[in-house]
Amino acid sequence: MIDVAIVGAGPYGLSVATHALAAGLDARVFGRPMQAWEWHMPRGMLLKSEPDASHLSDPDRRYGLDAFRRYSYGEPVPVETFIAYGKWFRAQTVKDALDESTVTGIGTEGGLFSVTLSSGATLLARTVVLALGFLPFAHRPNALAQLPPEVSSHSCEHHDLSAFAGRHVAVVGAGQSALETATLLVEAGAKPRIVARTPSLAWNDTPDERRSVLTRTLAPRSGLGTGWPSWVWSELPGAVRYLPKAARSHIVRTTLGPAGSWWLKERFDGAVPVTLGVRLEGADHRDAVRLHLTTGRGTVKTLETEHVIAATGYQVDVGRIDILDPNLRRGVSAGGPRPRLSRTFETRVPGLYMVGLAAAATFGPAMRFVHGSDFAARRVTRGLVSQVRKST
Ligand SMILES: Cc1cc2nc3c(=O)[nH]c(=O)nc-3n(C[C@H](O)[C@H](O)[C@H](O)COP(=O)(O)OP(=O)(O)OC[C@H]3O[C@@H](n4cnc5c(N)ncnc54)[C@H](O)[C@@H]3O)c2cc1C
Repeated sequence: MIDVAIVGAGPYGLSVATHALAAGLDARVFGRPMQAWEWHMPRGMLLKSEPDASHLSDPDRRYGLDAFRRYSYGEPVPVETFIAYGKWFRAQTVKDALDESTVTGIGTEGGLFSVTLSSGATLLARTVVLALGFLPFAHRPNALAQLPPEVSSHSCEHHDLSAFAGRHVAVVGAGQSALETATLLVEAGAKPRIVARTPSLAWNDTPDERRSVLTRTLAPRSGLGTGWPSWVWSELPGAVRYLPKAARSHIVRTTLGPAGSWWLKERFDGAVPVTLGVRLEGADHRDAVRLHLTTGRGTVKTLETEHVIAATGYQVDVGRIDILDPNLRRGVSAGGPRPRLSRTFETRVPGLYMVGLAAAATFGPAMRFVHGSDFAARRVTRGLVSQVRKST
């Protein structure tokens, strides 16, 4: 029996494990380190977050990204470096408390959690932290539901885009993931086209290295970008939890909306054709994939392609966490598809915690980014220590 089972070894899981171990808990983290970044993001991708917002968290802040490799402000971090950093961080901090097995089921047994692993082994844990990240929540538009998987996929299914060389690919979406996937497709020899509802694409401003005192005061920089609202969501996630539900939903929906990084624009412009201002109504597949689109004026258009990639993001829904047994799932989702969490990230099921994207509805947009891992790891560890004390 262990004190804490942490499911998922991404930035949040590794940070929570580091804090929990430092607090003297018998913690174990399950999953392959940085797996989502290594296998579910495109090779050649650059991080959108600034280097200073891309640190994993340890109690003394000794193992930040800058301890692994130094980047200056505005210098994009390649995904390959970030994966190597995550693995290095694990080697420094979590060490043998990592078990690379996948967790296949979580239930309860005699007041404890039973955690079943892909190896078939089961162990008991006093508490569980779900650090599952974004993969369970990939959102695919209903309009693509009729297409077979060989011609339709989600952006998170791709790692090596060279498989599309020479092929026409429609990329649905207008956020960083869509724009960068399309750019990397061109660079891999494919023929992509962006298809999106928005009438025009948005791009982030080039960061200004030299800013006056006045500009710095009026628009401070933070882990989530520039300006006071971003600063508040980035630095005070604990306060976001006290806002009314409607305000929190609005913030999570609208903060850092779909936009491409400034460094991507030059590579994208002129290289990727776009079909904007259209709604995807449906799709069928015979010899080619045909996307049925309508414009704002109701005109119907058909776009033919060989493959469609939905770069349409992620929507948290506890009902999709299939490793939880039905009773636990019902308990966690009693208030709706997005879990309502305590100030220490505990769900409505005592001893069961959730961090990362699943916590964004409670603590705001910082939880969607690596930057939020420091706040989450510190807070959740406080909760774990007190829960473990209670149960021993
Ligand atoms: C294309 C893309 C680009 C992004 N770029 C940035 C960026 O530049 N900066 C930034 O801050 N954020 C970025 N994000 C958001 C990013 O996903 C989060 O910041 C970060 O991954 C959160 O860490 P995490 O540990 O919560 O999730 P993840 O990194 O997704 O880690 C969760 C891990 O849990 C594992 N797991 C799931 N289920 C199980 C199971 N049953 N058993 C064992 N393991 C399991 C998964 O395989 C995964 O490795 C990006 C997201 C995408 C999709």
